[in-house]
Amino acid sequence: MEKIDLNLENKFKTWEEVFENPRPALVESFQTGSVILNKRGALNPDHPLALDVESENLEVPILAHWVHHEIFGDFLLDAGLDASYFQDPKGGIDSIHADEFIQYKNQNIGFYIKDRKISLKGVFLSHLHSDHIAGVRELPHNIPYVVGKGELDKYHPDICGDFLKDVKTLYEIDFSKINEMAPLGPSADLLGDGSLWAIWTPGHTPGHISYLLNGLDGPVFFTMDAAFIYENLKQGVASSDYTWNVKMAQKTLEKIITFLKIYPQLRVGAGHELLNQKKNKKTGYLRFLLNNIY
Ligand SMILES: [Zn+2]
Repeated sequence: MEKIDLNLENKFKTWEEVFENPRPALVESFQTGSVILNKRGALNPDHPLALDVESENLEVPILAHWVHHEIFGDFLLDAGLDASYFQDPKGGIDSIHADEFIQYKNQNIGFYIKDRKISLKGVFLSHLHSDHIAGVRELPHNIPYVVGKGELDKYHPDICGDFLKDVKTLYEIDFSKINEMAPLGPSADLLGDGSLWAIWTPGHTPGHISYLLNGLDGPVFFTMDAAFIYENLKQGVASSDYTWNVKMAQKTLEKIITFLKIYPQLRVGAGHELLNQKKNKKTGYLRFLLNNIY
């Protein structure tokens, strides 16, 4: 695999400017499987606002988001799971460290890509945990894959599964070279027209990325794993389980909440929760609408 730094120009200075220029892009979210999280840990039980959070197992969706841009084509935000998990909770990874997931028939990312006749131009990953990248195994490998710098150093393909092994070129965003967009910090204009943004939200992992789609339906902010569930945003408490740096994750979550409060027109999607499922009239498939929470 070849690694290349992705150089991006940002002609926008503020989010106001961005939101005044919505672009012709739409998003639909796919559930590619499920994972069991404990609520104590999905919310850091040591945080003063979450001291009484109960131990409760939650079965939550594993998601991938399809962005369709009328000019630039189709992209994925995360890859979710491939079909290996339908028969085997470990997705064929022979290791005691392999994560276990649940998957029903035709939930795999390859099914959605074929069914929707999506011709992928690139895949933007939030981070390198298996529930976000295992699906890469059944996606085209000769298209650009993008990840935040710092992710590869913490990735252990030998024990967690080498999901990226056939990817030809991995582009890394070095956020130390990307312009800050208050109040979020370094934010990269991925397609150059202000439609799709990669925002550095470290804590869950070192190079973790949240995404923002500035489409004609209004802007949508995808926290990815900076907030597992809406409760993280509502309570103002980040996760502690599966989290590389709990303090940093909390600081990042607080920045996101500030951002969401400044721009109440934003809709927000949490990393592992779906609200308001609605059937798409044309395709018959579920379309997941995202809620304002403030
Ligand atoms: Zn994760």
